[in-house]
Amino acid sequence: MAHSDDCQYNYACAECDLLIDMPAHIPHRTALVCPRCNHTLAVGHRNPKHHVVAVSITAIIVMVIALSFSFISFSANGQQRDINLFQASSELFAQGYYFVALLVLSFIIILPILYLLCLSLIIVNTQYKLHFISTHLLGRIASSILPWAMTEVFLISVLVALIKIVSMADVTLEISFWAYVIFATLFTYVASIVDSHRLWQWIAQGDKW
Ligand SMILES: [Zn+2]
Repeated sequence: MAHSDDCQYNYACAECDLLIDMPAHIPHRTALVCPRCNHTLAVGHRNPKHHVVAVSITAIIVMVIALSFSFISFSANGQQRDINLFQASSELFAQGYYFVALLVLSFIIILPILYLLCLSLIIVNTQYKLHFISTHLLGRIASSILPWAMTEVFLISVLVALIKIVSMADVTLEISFWAYVIFATLFTYVASIVDSHRLWQWIAQGDKW
């Protein structure tokens, strides 16, 4: 198997299964579409590996900030209450919704971070030929995680809930909220760079397992 960035291979369109001979190089910001169904297969990017590793590490640091401070504070009738990001699931756990609490914790914190870690490990593995863990396994984990990472869904649901609460209490969006907004933006950016063509091309370039 070729070990260069110009590795060429066949790729099945995710929409119509047409087998396509992908070009060795896609110019920056050029979208490659399926000739049969017009589905976007891949978008060219200048230096995607460096971008993904740098943005992933930044996003993980921002998540640490989001977990360290209060998320939203409410004040009504002279009483103030702060809630943090963990409480989005721990409050559900305290009320006996154990499974829902676990799902919320997974969808908004654990799975997005796991996805970024998998991508970074795949890139480090293939770039430096380390092979301390199977990149195929990491690729499968990353691919199956992505549909379940719901950072933007969580933010939208928080905003919808706030619209109702604003009439009852003074609401202040705290550091953690803004950190999570940045995390969700960085996460979405990484996910937009790493389409499945690019992910498996990276794995094919460097994997020996
Ligand atoms: Zn197609």
